[in-house]
Amino acid sequence: MSTTNTCAHCQRAIVLVDGAWVDPEAAGDDSLWRETCDSHDTFVAEHEPVVSDTDRRIAVLQAIDAFVAMANAHPSTPHHDWGVTGYQADTPGQKVTRIIMGDLQADGSLKARSVHCFVDNLTGDVFKAAGWKAPAKGARYNLVHDFAEVERNFYWTGSYLYADWKRK
Ligand SMILES: [Zn+2]
Repeated sequence: MSTTNTCAHCQRAIVLVDGAWVDPEAAGDDSLWRETCDSHDTFVAEHEPVVSDTDRRIAVLQAIDAFVAMANAHPSTPHHDWGVTGYQADTPGQKVTRIIMGDLQADGSLKARSVHCFVDNLTGDVFKAAGWKAPAKGARYNLVHDFAEVERNFYWTGSYLYADWKRK
């Protein structure tokens, strides 16, 4: 995370100094004024940085990596009857990243590819596919916040991505 940011509460420009977010421009000589949002200490809250879009995108990329690793290691994945033995993330698009599944080849590529799901590059929302190029509307999971739930419900077909899916 960057060491300069904006406070989500007071919107002041803040910098990270010795592990604490402070307003370097704070006029008060009390150091608390530098480290809290209100100069009169009526609203005592520490500055909290707004998470930048860059940091959000990085978190989503990491979650996608973890998801692909989880899917490839999942007990339901080596589904040779249906030609689904591996998962990969495509190069991220403008807004979403396509997660593909197919028959894993010796050279590491996937043959007979189809879409498993799409992930929003900024939010981490997970969508089932409406087609090869586009996600369906309505996210059932968020890969960054609900990773454990995604892992618990994962099945190679993507059935857990449907809005009306229920655990059996
Ligand atoms: Zn603040």
